[in-house]
Amino acid sequence: MKRVYLDYAATTPCDPEVIKAIEPYFFDKFGNPSSIHAEGQEAKKAIEDSRQTLATFLGAKPEEIIFTSGGTESNNFAIEGVAFALQNKGNHIITTAIEHHAVAEPAKFLEKRGFKVTFVGVDKYGLVDLIDIKQAITDKTILISVMHANNEIGTIQPIEEIGKIARESDIYFHSDAVQTVGHIPVNVNELGVDLLSLSAHKFYGPKGIGALYIRKGTRIERFLHGGDQERGRRASTHNTPGIVGLAKAIEICQSKMTDETKFQVLLRDRIIKGIQDKISEVYLNGHPTKRLPNNVNFSIKYIEGESILLNLDMLGIAASTGSACTSSSLEPSHVLLAIGLSPEIAHGSLRLTLGRWIEEQDIDYLLEHLPVVVEKLRAMSPLYEKK
Ligand SMILES: *Cc1c(COP(=O)(O)O)cnc(C)c1O
Repeated sequence: MKRVYLDYAATTPCDPEVIKAIEPYFFDKFGNPSSIHAEGQEAKKAIEDSRQTLATFLGAKPEEIIFTSGGTESNNFAIEGVAFALQNKGNHIITTAIEHHAVAEPAKFLEKRGFKVTFVGVDKYGLVDLIDIKQAITDKTILISVMHANNEIGTIQPIEEIGKIARESDIYFHSDAVQTVGHIPVNVNELGVDLLSLSAHKFYGPKGIGALYIRKGTRIERFLHGGDQERGRRASTHNTPGIVGLAKAIEICQSKMTDETKFQVLLRDRIIKGIQDKISEVYLNGHPTKRLPNNVNFSIKYIEGESILLNLDMLGIAASTGSACTSSSLEPSHVLLAIGLSPEIAHGSLRLTLGRWIEEQDIDYLLEHLPVVVEKLRAMSPLYEKK
């Protein structure tokens, strides 16, 4: 059966060019990059070339890039690493109510270790208010962490402005850019961040590999203890195929970004308009314009998101209700609650995210079938009366 994958924010397929670039590093070029011999040095060169590629893409220096096992580790490293390095200076951290679990959970972990965390709220579009950030700052604040774009509703935050506030107050600033790297321009100097997290499987690279940008001079406790890889900041033998794949993926994104953004915005807006035209009582979640080019998120009244997903899946359409992590639990998304939705409305939400292999016909197929699914489910809902 035809499959239409509309869940690129959960993960992306690996680009075939990435797979080709990785392949030699499993057998021909398998050396341990910490070894002195030719096999080791060959792997080391591949890693340092990859580091340079990523650094150039981000506007960073190669020594400011640490390779990690993905977005989750980068976020844990940034938040706990800064907190433990600066605990004598202060114990207060500012973040937002709509962060990914990989930021929210380390922050909550630190609360149990004596740190204070302020989770600032957002408006109905999911935007953080700069005044709220300013007002949350105390003389004990050591870190501000605000995601670049939200993984559920796609809202893009005013990171540059928050960066200025952090700099004026001499506070470190971290951003979870897992949803933006490879999709929209990300430059660490323009954004004014001291730390930035990214993950390859969100931009057509392999799973289990990511990076943390750490601005030169930033005080941070090491994360994985062991060998002295990554200049003593993160132990463990390098994942050479993953690192090479991440760099290749970023190169491809760089060359295609302008065209991909243009095409995705076109399709995104076609889906939004199509859903609004064909289905009654639907509400777009996220900001109308300050949103990721590939993100659509709707609340559809009178039905459960899970039922829509199951019905769409049977028709060959892969979608999501929010983050992959919440799909298995019945708790409504903390992001949708934070933008002010009631739990009932939050339960009826559908996220559709676009990517490299989406075609115009896929959107035709979606817009043909989704209204039928919604009508069918609503017909079974006791709350719904057809108008
Ligand atoms: C996917 C995602 C993560 C987690 O990244 P992994 O590489 O899967 O650990 C963190 N933050 C955001 C915003 C994400 O979308």
